[in-house]
Amino acid sequence: MSEVLNVEAIFGENVFNLGKMRERLTKNVFKEVKRVMEQGGELSPATADIVAKAMKDWAVEHGATHYTHWFQPLTGITAEKHDSFINHPDENGKMLMEFSGKELIKGEPDASSFPSGGLRATFEARGYTAWDITSPAFLKEDATGVILCIPTAFCSYTGEALDKKTPLLRSMEAVSEQALRIVKLFGNTQATKVTASVGPEQEYFLVDRQKYLQRKDLIFAGRTLFGAPAPKGQELEDHYFGVIRERIGAFMKDLNVELWKLGVTAKTQHNEVAPAQHELAPIYETANIAVDHNQLVMETMKKVAERHGLRCLLNEKPFAGVNGSGKHNNWSLNTDDGMNLLDPGETPNENIQFLLVLSCILKAVDIHADLLRQSASDVGNDHRLGANEAPPAIISVFLGEQLEDVVRQLIETGEAKSCLLGGKLMTGVSTLPDLPKDATDRNRTSPFAFTGNKFEFRMVGSADSVASPNTILNAIVAEAFCEAADVLEAAEDFNLAVHDLIKKYLSEHHRIIFNGNGYAEEWVEEAQRRGLPNIKSMIEAACTLTTEKSVKLFEKFHIFTESELESREEILYETYAKTINIEALTMIDMASTQIIPAVMGYSQKLARTVVDVRAAGVEPVVQAELLGQINEKLGEMKKALTELTEKEAGIYAMKDVKAQAFCYKDVIVPAMEALRKPADELEMLVDRECWPFPTYGDLMFEV
Ligand code: ADP
Ligand code: MG
Repeated sequence: MSEVLNVEAIFGENVFNLGKMRERLTKNVFKEVKRVMEQGGELSPATADIVAKAMKDWAVEHGATHYTHWFQPLTGITAEKHDSFINHPDENGKMLMEFSGKELIKGEPDASSFPSGGLRATFEARGYTAWDITSPAFLKEDATGVILCIPTAFCSYTGEALDKKTPLLRSMEAVSEQALRIVKLFGNTQATKVTASVGPEQEYFLVDRQKYLQRKDLIFAGRTLFGAPAPKGQELEDHYFGVIRERIGAFMKDLNVELWKLGVTAKTQHNEVAPAQHELAPIYETANIAVDHNQLVMETMKKVAERHGLRCLLNEKPFAGVNGSGKHNNWSLNTDDGMNLLDPGETPNENIQFLLVLSCILKAVDIHADLLRQSASDVGNDHRLGANEAPPAIISVFLGEQLEDVVRQLIETGEAKSCLLGGKLMTGVSTLPDLPKDATDRNRTSPFAFTGNKFEFRMVGSADSVASPNTILNAIVAEAFCEAADVLEAAEDFNLAVHDLIKKYLSEHHRIIFNGNGYAEEWVEEAQRRGLPNIKSMIEAACTLTTEKSVKLFEKFHIFTESELESREEILYETYAKTINIEALTMIDMASTQIIPAVMGYSQKLARTVVDVRAAGVEPVVQAELLGQINEKLGEMKKALTELTEKEAGIYAMKDVKAQAFCYKDVIVPAMEALRKPADELEMLVDRECWPFPTYGDLMFEV
């Protein structure tokens, strides 16, 4: 038997959670901390000192030597700078580890080398990190030792957000405030807060580390830039939910333990559709904690993979021809007195509050479809959205039969008198129970699907932070709630007004509802007829941040200032241009120093064979034909390489970052494809022994 895992004992072991605070703080101090967590405000300096000391003592008992303000700059990943608890030794040379309230609450990393999109010039590099008291501190154990990590927000000297966390927290406050107005209208005076809850399902690939190290494209770009398809892909559908192989199982077990220690509720694990692809889903939690935890999930996956001689690929499209990876973002709104605003109950037609919430969300998604699309874009996701695997780049909402029927009745008559019920699923086998059946089947092709008591936003990319999608969701829904509350609070007859408003919103925005197959070609045309935006790429989506409509939205709810939005747009162009530049340079490198030399080596061998066979008195028909074919492809490849190299150099020198990003998309990406095509064809012609790096088959099937 393997050793028994005591999950209850290890869960949260490395987290300075409420339980540990309650144990280690006096009653009054604990109460003050809890009040600030729940209601906002600031800790008094004296309390901050006490909390810092308790936190440090706990951390040091667990072997911590350093602390860090852990933050999430606009790179999309996390950043940390370690400071030890070491202090000046006393006159006897003895050193006492110390950590003050000031150090806990505020940090000042040099901000000059993080992307700021022009918000902060390098000569005014001050940036501050501020403790996000609602997300617990935790210990990270790795080769550097044990580090106390304090989740923080990151702002510039002038108070502008330089990170993904600050706007998220602002959006959570906005949606809470507006949602409270809605529930109050329905007579709920108990609730004091509405929390956005998020459960992000994380997809990823695992490949063998030794093989990974032989592929410069995986090393530099995180995805393959060359590679002929393996004889087998995902067509047999035998990987999805398949038996988990031993080596992967050992990884998953280790990963779960690490995550549980960090207080991450790793819950579900399975093989995904593509070979070598897997998924992990945690249990949903408050949005900012879910965002932090998702960062920890991604980081821990990478770390644990190394231990198992594996490499975790989080890029959205590591391999052409098989599914890429996404991150389904499950989202709902919950009051602090225990009500999920997205729970329709048994008979949604009678649940007026739910119907109002639903119509507000439909309105928000319709009006700001462009922003939602933007929030799910990153460079890797351009390969996914719109391809035959992920939802299309067009935002639409799937409601399912039951709700669609209710919506139809409301639009037609202003009232929904009936609703389709779930009923029983007859198994037809006497020894199997007949199962209660949901009123609605699933739809896997919708980018924004209602799934029982939450919405599932399926466009998000696997490598991306879920901060942006949730910031946008909270913001757009806050706006719709605010507009509805403005009308309803002023209404003389609430019941009449709420019915009218639901009917109005549903009638005006039902074009956003689509229950059909989102992958079908006809949908693209239908969506165009409906006037829904179809934004094909990340950089085409970037400008949606700074439209008049979006500046108005974000400024109204104090989520972004106009200059913060402009800076973010700029960073998107920069990131895109830099990423494609790296990919192009990697291809040029691999083509010039690996593929072409390997092909030349093989054709030289072939040429010799041709001579030898002929000398033996036989006509080398096949050998000569193969040599001809290879030479032709090699010529094609060299030509494409020269073109890519020349174009790349020209575009790299451009000054206007937006124009440059578009040139990378319109000129360099096609030039990269042109180089890849003959290279992949050559891979199928050349002796396997001569090919300079592991193939798709090696990477995906021999893990
Ligand atoms: P799927 O079948 O799509 O894998 P699951 O029902 O397993 O979906 O849930 C996926 C994710 O949704 C999990 O992280 C889960 O915790 C989360 N989730 C469930 N209910 C809610 C909710 N009310 N709000 C937000 N997330 C939720
Ligand atoms: Mg899902």
